[in-house]
Amino acid sequence: MQRRADVPRLGSLGPSARAVVRALLLAGPLSRAELARRLERSPASITKITQPLLATGLITEDAAPLGESRGRPGAPLVLDAARHRFIGVKVTSDEVYAVRTDAAGLVEATGHRALADVEQDTVVAQILDLVNELGRSVDIQAIGVGVAGQMSRFDDTVRGNVYLGWDDVPLGPILEEATGIPTVLSGDARALTAGVQWAGAGRGTSDFAVVTVGVGVGLGIVLGDTVLAGPTGRAGMLGHHRVSDSGPSCPRGHRGCASAFLTTAAITHGIGVPLGRSDVDLPTALALADAGDAVALRVFADAGHALGVLVAQLVNILGLPAVILAGDGLDMLAHARPAMEAAISEHLDPHATPPSVTPFSSGFDEWARGAAVVACQWMLVDPPGRP
Ligand SMILES: [Zn+2]
Repeated sequence: MQRRADVPRLGSLGPSARAVVRALLLAGPLSRAELARRLERSPASITKITQPLLATGLITEDAAPLGESRGRPGAPLVLDAARHRFIGVKVTSDEVYAVRTDAAGLVEATGHRALADVEQDTVVAQILDLVNELGRSVDIQAIGVGVAGQMSRFDDTVRGNVYLGWDDVPLGPILEEATGIPTVLSGDARALTAGVQWAGAGRGTSDFAVVTVGVGVGLGIVLGDTVLAGPTGRAGMLGHHRVSDSGPSCPRGHRGCASAFLTTAAITHGIGVPLGRSDVDLPTALALADAGDAVALRVFADAGHALGVLVAQLVNILGLPAVILAGDGLDMLAHARPAMEAAISEHLDPHATPPSVTPFSSGFDEWARGAAVVACQWMLVDPPGRP
């Protein structure tokens, strides 16, 4: 593909140009009139903002239909997303996943590495190995890393990650120093949500939540086309929300919290202990339920109930029309779905509109893609090195 060296990097643009690029990535192609409406600017100001972007080739006019001349006011504008590359990384306690994407979140290449342990040096070495592999001979504008923990939307430090046992680890600066590439960290559920919004099932939807189940319980919220972070940057703590007055306790000792029912460990423990088995993993648990095992069926029903309560309460509070379910524990729905649906009906406010609830099956590459989208959004919302 022809490559123009003079196309500016997204993080070098001024605030108005970044707003145009964000709108085009979120909903493009868009006409100048539609951009003016979305950004609450005058058509003249949109023309002024977009003219230099067109001149450098950063944005182009969408191919005009036959017989129409270019440059007409209604011609939709598009961002040439393929000219901007990002790397997204998802770190679990077993493996590191990485993808290279364009600015629209389209995945161009993937890679993963097993982790021998979760020591800082081990994890950093595997991330750097993947960045070298995926970023070789390509201009990478930013790296995004998604990990579990209490990070703000665009953070530089791993905070409170119980799976790696990491707290206050300055992973962003460590990676930046080694790669020379700006690096941003984000909570993994919020990163996944950014990918779903930009390039996945949430595209074209302004308001939705993503609830993830697996090793933990995670939440990402999109309100008015923006991934919600809240005043502290950490909005969306759902994992220890109380869903029942009874039931098992989570590792933190909360009786009846969401994690006590919904995490993969809660499910496998809940089935394995009464059966006197220590070999129950999620596939085994599902097979037991398939075979009609009463303990397994009850544990999955309890998990479904917990998930339904969470979904209903999210919708009650935020009025969300759509909830997307994701995560590597999602297979539970095969047995948990009826109880989930019953709990949604039971706990939804009588005046609330029932949401669409959609499962979104994905591997960890999808989480890595979300981290790449966070890196792109970082450049377009709050790029480093700009006042
Ligand atoms: Zn808890």
